[in-house]
Amino acid sequence: MKKLILLCILLSSCASKLEDDLPLNLVADSSAFIVLDFNKANYNGYAFTKNKKKYLIYGLPYVEEEKTLYIGEYNIKVKPKFFGESYIEIADTNLVTPKLSDQERASAEYLKVKKIVKKQSNQVVNDFDFIPPIDSVITSPFGKRRFINGNPRSPHMALDLRGAVGKEIFAPMAGKVVMAEEHFYGGNKIILDHGGGLFTAYSHLNKFNVEEGESVEQGAIIGFVGMTGRVTGPHLHWEVYLNQERINPELLVDLEYAQD
Ligand SMILES: [Zn+2]
Repeated sequence: MKKLILLCILLSSCASKLEDDLPLNLVADSSAFIVLDFNKANYNGYAFTKNKKKYLIYGLPYVEEEKTLYIGEYNIKVKPKFFGESYIEIADTNLVTPKLSDQERASAEYLKVKKIVKKQSNQVVNDFDFIPPIDSVITSPFGKRRFINGNPRSPHMALDLRGAVGKEIFAPMAGKVVMAEEHFYGGNKIILDHGGGLFTAYSHLNKFNVEEGESVEQGAIIGFVGMTGRVTGPHLHWEVYLNQERINPELLVDLEYAQD
């Protein structure tokens, strides 16, 4: 639905009709994004201009219960969404709970990422058009609730995409490499800053093809699939941050599910 609204706005044919019709009370799903009138939203985020009108694209939080957000003149009701569940049993408890020094390392890395995605740099492009970061299929959806030995873990806030070690990963949109380093959970991890509070992140890479500080065009090879960090097999773990929320990457690209 959000995607439809966005598509409609991007198409000049219906943009003029929607301009005055964007309601101030909106209902949307957990971790989706919405398009708002920039001036009415009064928020300095990811923007684009179409037919001389400025819009804001706003990322919604992952919620367990219905939550109302007040953004400028807008009231946005965010509804929880069931993304699925997975249960796994691991007999070796040492594998479930990392040792203290690793936990400390992981939380420092988590805070570093949180700080990076708070930045507001200038937007690289005036659109919201992504290409898939890999020519592949989805193996694990965004938002799935995970249970290890019956205990709830944090939901999967990324999209897992299939790929053998060495498969190319592309920049889905032009941006700047703001991080390329090894993390405890994510392994070799890249973060691209697309400006306006939009960031994309790529984990478990075998190898980097870019360096921190480098600017990349849409479609540039930024690295290669691997199985570094805490993983059971090679794949690409893809995250999208918008106004510091991790939104569902499935809403941005057309990717099929693996059939096995
Ligand atoms: Zn993942």
